[in-house]
Amino acid sequence: MDLCSRNGSIIDKEDASLSVFSVEFSYGFGVYENVRVSKGEPLYLNEHIARLFKSAQEIELEHEFSDSDLQSWTNQLINQLDEDNYNLKILLIGAKDPKNAEVFILPLKPKYPDRKLYKKGVKLITADYERYIPNAKTLNMLPSYLLYRRAQSEGAYDCLLLNRNGEITEGTRTNFFGVKDKTLVTPPAYDVLVGVTRTHVMDCAIDAGFEVKEEAVSIDNIDEFNSAFITSTSSKIMPVNQIDEKDFVISDELKNLMKKFKEFTTSI
Ligand code: PLP
Repeated sequence: MDLCSRNGSIIDKEDASLSVFSVEFSYGFGVYENVRVSKGEPLYLNEHIARLFKSAQEIELEHEFSDSDLQSWTNQLINQLDEDNYNLKILLIGAKDPKNAEVFILPLKPKYPDRKLYKKGVKLITADYERYIPNAKTLNMLPSYLLYRRAQSEGAYDCLLLNRNGEITEGTRTNFFGVKDKTLVTPPAYDVLVGVTRTHVMDCAIDAGFEVKEEAVSIDNIDEFNSAFITSTSSKIMPVNQIDEKDFVISDELKNLMKKFKEFTTSI
């Protein structure tokens, strides 16, 4: 795990440095992705690369990298690493001249959630914050970082972000779903980062006979759900047992969906 990739060249992690004079990096003019590698295979790599390029387009970050560059550089790095399970961060940093944009692919050993949490559920807190250009995964992360840190200090797993109408959009690094019997409700795609996991969970839920709605979810109406969960590449489906002061149960329907999703992901 001491290696990484810079524009397709494998280099030592220590050499993956950026100048503090880089205005683009210090102003957050960059986009990124987090890809899970399981048993040496990058999961949903195509979708992550497509989203990286979409994020770049959203912030008008021009570059000369192609889909196949990123595919082959990612696989080249994976072949050089001697671990089976880890995450890869793909970081695309803009420049004044598109020729000078840079791509770093960095292996990370994230702390995957404690297995007990999938049985017990997690607590979430809420805060008022609207992400700028929500469909893009950019380096503009300060508010998310501070809110995540606040959540952690309060013993919560993440912080749900509320828009100006008091509607839940997403977590700082997760998507949100409310569960009412066999119906799932998740905030509309235009208001959130369209999570790769969110998309797969929605497909899996439809296959499993759930009705899936993309609708605004007001924080004042969360009582109408019996259960809730969040999704992300690292968390998969994480059940929620508390949002601020309101408690949730992990319903049989949600347990069933978690089981189906496990089967769904191991079958890929
Ligand atoms: N929403 C935000 C703001 C995120 O940063 C992330 C992931 O980092 C997600 C949702 C979940 O996306 P994914 O399922 O692709 O990991």
